[in-house]
Amino acid sequence: MESYDVAVIGLGAAGAAALRASAKTGARTIGIDQFRPPHGFGSSHGETRLLRTAYSEGEFYVPLIRRAIALWRDLESSTGRRLFEQTGVTYAGPTDDAFMTGARKAARRWTLDLPRSGDLSPWFDLPGRWHTLVDTEGGYLYAERAIRAFLADAKARGADVLAASRVERIDGSGRLMRIRTARRVINAKRIVITTGAWSQELAPLLKPLTYVERRVLHWFDDPARRFGRASGFRPFAISPGEGQLFYGFPTNRSGEVKVAEHKSVAIVEGPEAVDRIVRRKDIAAIRPLVRAYMPGLGRHLRSEVCMYPMAHHERFILDHDPRDTRIVIGAGLSGHGFKFAPAIGEVLANLALARRQKVDIAPFALTGRLRRR
Ligand SMILES: Cc1cc2nc3c(=O)[nH]c(=O)nc-3n(C[C@H](O)[C@H](O)[C@H](O)COP(=O)(O)OP(=O)(O)OC[C@H]3O[C@@H](n4cnc5c(N)ncnc54)[C@H](O)[C@@H]3O)c2cc1C
Repeated sequence: MESYDVAVIGLGAAGAAALRASAKTGARTIGIDQFRPPHGFGSSHGETRLLRTAYSEGEFYVPLIRRAIALWRDLESSTGRRLFEQTGVTYAGPTDDAFMTGARKAARRWTLDLPRSGDLSPWFDLPGRWHTLVDTEGGYLYAERAIRAFLADAKARGADVLAASRVERIDGSGRLMRIRTARRVINAKRIVITTGAWSQELAPLLKPLTYVERRVLHWFDDPARRFGRASGFRPFAISPGEGQLFYGFPTNRSGEVKVAEHKSVAIVEGPEAVDRIVRRKDIAAIRPLVRAYMPGLGRHLRSEVCMYPMAHHERFILDHDPRDTRIVIGAGLSGHGFKFAPAIGEVLANLALARRQKVDIAPFALTGRLRRR
């Protein structure tokens, strides 16, 4: 029977990063996934992810994103792959809007560069009274390329990867824990559970704390490449108010602009209950935002359904399982976790291997939240 220091179950953004971080310490490490990552069935697929640093969701995310940026660069230099485009991110919204206020507050607290943006009229039609800013340290990431890079670098550092193997059970008894798939039993001293929307299956203690949401992404045509990076267009996050967040990216190689709304479409029972069919009302929901703020975009080309593994208040869970501290949980990345992936991976590996943390992880503790409920 094989035996490892650390076994990471689930190789999306969090798990692939944890695998690399653990392998980097020299620990004997294995990563296991039910599919062949990167794959399109979880929450880490697709071309791009936004990276914001002036974090309105909580100032405590800023040290985590700074650590993540350093580690994205580290992964780039280990693998020779470009993963992060530090283009800056445009923010726009009413001056007193919570997103804009939160961004300014985070920038002040952590001395982030958040100047007023230049003229946005070539791309956007925004109310004149709105505030427009540039998160200069932000940009965007290449998502699936990043997952490949984490896995390749982990393997180069000696990690094993077991794909197409669903973990059915973990037996906690004895000195080593036993991880059971349909065909194999793997022994490990420590286990990291990063199973995204499936988290409750192997970590039932998450039941009161996590849930799954259905979301929809859209692509619009940009025949004249007006929204391409060459024209000076940056990824953006527009907060029109009332908790809405409309975001998007520069034109991709196929001449398409990806836009989406960071807003729940539906809470579902679990990953298998996500309605994967794009409905007419999904497209109808994005059209008014495009028409109002980006009237220069071309026709709607396509849409795609995805799912977010959520935690209450969209706050990540990065902690030991209080009932068995040999198990570490990384869950509830809540639709904004990708940008932090290498820092999250490092936090999880450090928890598993009892190493010192580089950032304060108290805001992501599980125990306090379990008590509060
Ligand atoms: C469409 C979309 C857009 C997003 N945009 C942004 C953005 O712009 N910026 C940003 O920072 N974040 C963004 N996010 C959020 C971010 O991508 C997610 O928070 C993150 O990718 C979640 O990663 P994860 O590892 O927790 O989950 P997942 O990627 O779902 O990984 C979980 C893995 O566990 C595996 N697994 C589950 N159960 C088992 C089992 N029993 N045995 C073995 N393997 C198992 C699954 O196969 C899967 O590979 C977006 C998410 C989506 C879906």
